[in-house]
Order: sequence, then structure tokens, then C-alpha cells
Amino acid sequence: MEKVIGIDLGTTNSCVAIVENGAPVVIPNRGGYKTTPSMVAVTEAGKRLVGHIAKRQAITNAENTVYAAKRLIGRKWTSPQVKNSIAMSSYRIVEGPHRDVRIVLREKEFGVPEISAMVLQEMKVIAEDYLGEAVHKAVVTVPAYFNDNQRQATKDAGEIAGLDVIRIINEPTAAALSYGFGRNVEKTVAVYDFGGGTFDISVLEIGAHGVFKVIATAGDTFLGGEDIDARVIDWLVEGFKEEHGIDLRQDRMALQRLKDAAEKAKCELSSVRETEVNLPFIISNGRNEALHLQRTLTRQELEELSSDLIERTIDICKQTLEDAKLEKDEIEEVVLVGGMTRMPKIQASVEQFFEKEPNKGVHPDEVVALGASIQGAALTDDRHQMVLLDVTPHALGIMTFGSYFEELIPQNTTVPTHRTKIFTTSRDHQTAVKILVMQGESERAEDNELLGEFILTGLRRAPKGTVEIEVTFEINADGIVSVRAKDFETGLEQSIQVTATSGLTRDEIKTMMDDAKGDLVDRRTSEEFEAKKQEADKLIAEIEKLFPQVEQIVASSDFGREAIEKAKAIVGKARTAIERRDVAAIKEQIEGLTRTHRMFKGVVAKT
Ligand code: AMP
Repeated sequence: MEKVIGIDLGTTNSCVAIVENGAPVVIPNRGGYKTTPSMVAVTEAGKRLVGHIAKRQAITNAENTVYAAKRLIGRKWTSPQVKNSIAMSSYRIVEGPHRDVRIVLREKEFGVPEISAMVLQEMKVIAEDYLGEAVHKAVVTVPAYFNDNQRQATKDAGEIAGLDVIRIINEPTAAALSYGFGRNVEKTVAVYDFGGGTFDISVLEIGAHGVFKVIATAGDTFLGGEDIDARVIDWLVEGFKEEHGIDLRQDRMALQRLKDAAEKAKCELSSVRETEVNLPFIISNGRNEALHLQRTLTRQELEELSSDLIERTIDICKQTLEDAKLEKDEIEEVVLVGGMTRMPKIQASVEQFFEKEPNKGVHPDEVVALGASIQGAALTDDRHQMVLLDVTPHALGIMTFGSYFEELIPQNTTVPTHRTKIFTTSRDHQTAVKILVMQGESERAEDNELLGEFILTGLRRAPKGTVEIEVTFEINADGIVSVRAKDFETGLEQSIQVTATSGLTRDEIKTMMDDAKGDLVDRRTSEEFEAKKQEADKLIAEIEKLFPQVEQIVASSDFGREAIEKAKAIVGKARTAIERRDVAAIKEQIEGLTRTHRMFKGVVAKT
């Protein structure tokens, strides 16, 4: 049976898991870490780096290192969130050809799904190394609050990475799956998920026999640990400005160092009450003197700096309970997910709001990937019986006359689902209608997200209000939307699968897939090259050590001299192959080197 991996594609870190022998396990990367930074970089030599190695060089190569790409995925260039990212990022963000967002690394423009694809590809390789076989299928998680464009863009990223994303599931739902898996509990749970870039809350009913039903979900895709880091950075920058009159934001390298230091200080303050931020030689004062940054940050100060952000998450929890028509005491368990939930103030705020101690039994960094792998197993293996009923996080509808938003599917409706509504023409003799498909909660169409548009033409000429058009919305299990419009009388019909209007074209995805494949072959080859080079180098060194001895022993015979010449030639060829980085040739020479080495050892042993 084909293996399906579960991937938590996080803003800051990603994690991959698989169900083995009936139990979900997280797969560690080559360094032994269970999570991998969602970072991508291009070096001066044009080499692509992903994960820990990208993170390690982020300070010295800040302009060409991408972090938090998830905040940009599936967003339109004009969205406020993109503007916000442009101001905060050390890498260049530019407008793409479809009003989408592109990231410039070493003069080359990359689509955001293309960047995320590099991270997904890394997770795929981690799983393949562990399993010893190729992996083609994955379940990938997204924040519950992701709209259709963001979901579609995440699917595109999977495709570019060579993965068939068989299902997209919501992160809090995945966490609940992992929490409830194999426990046979019947409970109403709230999953509070505060990660690096996003905040999500979901309320679920876990029923007997593996039924997971989401009742309500809400969140903010621009509220995460990075915003808390940004507060710490502001505090450091302002303090430095007061003291030295220099704005550290002007220096990208300084800013990247501040970013690292701020996050480190924040994490440390989860276990200690105060910590020192120490950044020697942060900038020069213009008179060739280096300035240092040194400040103490206390846990209390950090809590003050971030209190309104934490409060915002609690407000969203409140709203979600109202939407779910549940009282606080009906929530039987609160599950904490995401690295930020390690912060004591966050744990305390959640406890205070829900009036119960949150469950800390699940590992906040791993639980989402584990849940994704459980879903993957359930979709492909009958032995894992499970029913997952998720909801649509946003209302869906169309724009009607006067720029109003007419809702067809309300927020928090269980998916898959479909709804039909009849509309009429708004002008006399109108022969075409434009259907604008939107997602959002506002009555004013322009405040909502435009998912796609299509025109139903060839309508009968008739007075306004007399031609009836039947519009059907469908949301599949991935949360992806399709819309059909039909002239009620003639049966004339038009439909679209709503694909990201702000994303990539099919052709672009195809090109990026080819690029990604090329890159993978490159990277694999370079790993293989290193291994083979080492093997060859070792043999060469050993042969060369034996040369003088062997030469002395066999020099008297023609046959011996010939053997020596042959050995020298093999060593020379191996050296050339290494220089050329030609893996196939190195492998060939290794055979010759091994034979020579054996023969040399034999000669020496006989004397
Ligand atoms: P995630 O997206 O779930 O990987 O969460 C990552 C976020 O959690 C980042 O903003 C981290 O800085 C933050 N984080 C990780 N560990 C801690 C910690 N011990 N205390 C506070 N925040 C943390």
C-alpha cells in the first residue's frame, strides 16, 4: 500500500509524520531534529538551501533568505497583509504578473508556492530517507482560517514539490485528530493553536468510533509569535535609538541579528524570569567605532509588550464560542498547539478564559503533523476507520446588484456541502451575467475576498427580473470551491472550479515543477558526490601510503612496473573525476581503486 505522509507546513517550522504499525510517528531530519525551519535561501553561488542550513546563514545572507513565506501564500499584492510583510521582511517582495506576490532571490523571481514547495520537497526527502522508498502522497495542513486562494496555493506548492496532496486539512482539526486518536473519548474540545505566524481556534466534538466534527473555527492569519518578536525588536530598536541616536532598522544585517535575538529572548523567558540580549558590534557609529547592544528583558516586560496580542486571541476564542453557541463550561478539554503556547502568560490567559487548566499532554510542535498522518492513513487504509467533518471557515457567496454580498453558504457549515439559490436578472434584455464569487463575512462585497469570476452568456432577452438563474456552490473535502450557474429555463450552464485568482497559472506551475525536479537531482547528486568523494579520497590516501613499499618490492619485474603505472593512472583518473564532480566516473574509479588497494595490500603482506 502506498505510504502517505502528513506534513505540517508551518510559518516558522515544518514537521513530517507517518503512521507506522498503526501509530503515528514524527520523522526526524538528518540532523536528528523533529522540526525543520521553513526557511529557504539562495547562496552567492546560486545554490538553494532549505531548513537548518538556510537558517544558519540567514544573518550573513539576509536579503536572500526567505522566512514566513506562509504569510504571503495565496495573497494578493494589494492586500494589507502583504504591505505589512514588505515592511518587515529582509528579503525583497515584488508584484507578480497576476496581481500576486513574488519573492526576489539573487535577481530571480520566485512565486510564493514555489518557495513553500522547496520546504515541502525537503520534508518529502526527509520522509524518503527514513522510509528508504519514494513518497508521492501527502496530507498537508493549513490554518483553519485560510481562504480558498491560500488553500489552492498550498496545493500548488505540493504539486511543484512533486507531491500529490490528497487532502488539505485544518491545523486545529489535525491536532484534535492526534489528541483523540485511539483514545475512544467522547468530548467537546477547544484547540487553541498559537504558532509562529498564525492563530487559530477550533471547537470540535469528538464522538465515539472516530467521528471528529468541527463545530466552529476562527482565527487570524496575521497574528503569531513573529508579532511578539516584532514587539521585542521595536523595544530594542527604540532603546538603542534613545541611547545612540541610530536607527538599527536601516541595516538589514543588524535587523536580522535583532530578529534572532528577540525570538531567542522570548523563548528563554518561557523558562526564566529575565534574560540579557547581547549583540556586540551591532553597528558602527559612523566614526569607525563599533557600537554594542546590551539590554535586560524581564518576563514581565515581555508580557506587557505582548499583552494586547494575547488579548486578541482571547477575543477570538470568545467569538468562536458564541458562534458555536456553547458556554465555556461545555468545553471539556482545551488542547494547546503551536510553539507560542509554551509562553506562561499565554497558558495562564487560556486557563483564565476557559476556567480550566489546558491539556499539555500533546507535543505542541508535533501534534499537527501527527494528525495529518492519521488523516493520510485513514484515507488510504480501511483499517483506520475515521470520519472527519470539518467546516468552512468563511461564508461563501456572490456579489449582487448594488455591490452587496449575497451569502450562499454560511460560515462554519460542515463540508463537503453544496447550496443552490435562484437569482434574477437586474436589467431589461440582459443577455449575460457576471458572477463574482466571494468569500468573507462582510455585507459589502468589496470587503470580502474575490475568489473568481465567470460570465454566463446567451440568456434569453426578457424584462428584468424574469430570467431566473440558478447558482450552485459546492465545497469539497479540501475546502476548495466550485460554482455552477444555470439559466433555469434554457438549461444553459456554465461552471468554474474556483482556482486562485492571485496564484499561479498552470504553465507557471509546470515550469516550477521542472525547476524543482532539477534542483532535487542537483541536491541529491551533491550529497552522493560528497559520500563518494570521501570514499575515493580514503582509498587514494591508503594507496599512496603503500606506494613506496610496493614500488620497492615489485620494481624488478616488468609486470610489477606495469602494475605501478596502472595504479598511478587509476589514482589520476579518480582525481580528475573528483575535480569534475562527476559522480558516475568517481564510482567507476572507486572500483579500480578498491582493486588496486587490495592488490597493494596483498603484495605488502606477502613480504
Ligand atoms: P510553530 O509555528 O508552532 O512552530 O511555533 C513557532 C513559534 O513558537 C515561534 O514564534 C517561536 O518563537 C515560538 N516558540 C517556540 N518555543 C517557544 C518557547 N519556549 N517560548 C515561547 N515561544 C516559543
